[in-house]
Amino acid sequence: MILGIESTAHTFGIGISHNGKILANIRDMYKTASGGIIPTESAKHHSALAPEIYQKALVEAKISPKKLKAIAISNAPGLAPCLLAGLHFAKEKANELKIPIIPVNHCIAHLEIGRSEGAHDPVLLYTSGANTQIIAYAAGKYRVFGETLDLGVGNFIDKIAREFGEGFPGGPKIEQLALNGKYIELPYSIKGMDVSFSGMQTKISQLYKKGVSKEDLSFSLQETAFAMLVEAAERALAHTGKTELVLGGGVACNSRLQEMCKIMCKERIKKTKFFCPPKDLLVDNGAMIAFTGEIMFNSGIKQKPENIDISPRERTDQVKVTWR
Ligand code: AMP
Ligand code: MG
Repeated sequence: MILGIESTAHTFGIGISHNGKILANIRDMYKTASGGIIPTESAKHHSALAPEIYQKALVEAKISPKKLKAIAISNAPGLAPCLLAGLHFAKEKANELKIPIIPVNHCIAHLEIGRSEGAHDPVLLYTSGANTQIIAYAAGKYRVFGETLDLGVGNFIDKIAREFGEGFPGGPKIEQLALNGKYIELPYSIKGMDVSFSGMQTKISQLYKKGVSKEDLSFSLQETAFAMLVEAAERALAHTGKTELVLGGGVACNSRLQEMCKIMCKERIKKTKFFCPPKDLLVDNGAMIAFTGEIMFNSGIKQKPENIDISPRERTDQVKVTWR
């Protein structure tokens, strides 16, 4: 059994995986009343809650800590204070239990968890707050086939929602508003395989000030931003010849994004399967870290706690993938 710890940004989570089965998945999110995430405050939240979430995970999995073979930690990429809070707790437990640590790249874990849904070699459309990337395995590494050139799609949506006075997180609010909106044209910005959102952000802001309704702007935002993402994901499928698409990240909770992915996969001439993990595995969570850690551990990857550090800026394609 492998225990996995997630602490790269606003969420502190612990999951437990055994033979690819998720036995526990507990998490808690640091939230601010207004404005964005303050990394040091989020880190304090993680450190304060870690012992309690650890206990809850063991109870949910109905196991004693003695059963744990290793601790997987998402040590990259992310906000340094948050990563350190998680790593500190992971080392403490690993030393206490005298077991090794497995360093897991957070973005790769979003892809690997797609395997728990039955995907084998998918293209991942990873749409979260800070990250927006299209990732797939090719020639020994997970490679980034496309990504945002400015904001992550979730942060973009949150900024618009904040301007609308809808609070945080903005995604669910925008999704709700969109139900009663109609389409107006917004800047559709895709360059090669990359996307950008700041032009659309400016345009929405201008139109809102001119009196265009939140509903119409929310609807059009979703149609435009998601179409860009789905277009880039489709081209990654075409380029790699892969036939599976996995969604990941908090924005993937959006029903319209899921629907558009489903339609794209269905309309492809080369039969393509679509996988959307349940919400608990889409958002940042410890279970995907445990699940990925278990795959890595089974291939022989383990390290002494003192040899592990955080890598806040590690890129997906810097990780040597020796477990496939
Ligand atoms: P993550 O960074 O992966 O934890 O995801 C957080 C992001 O997901 C935030 O920007 C949320 O606004 C966004 N989000 C959550 N639910 C939805 C939704 N239903 N539609 C769009 N975005 C969402
Ligand atoms: Mg994430």
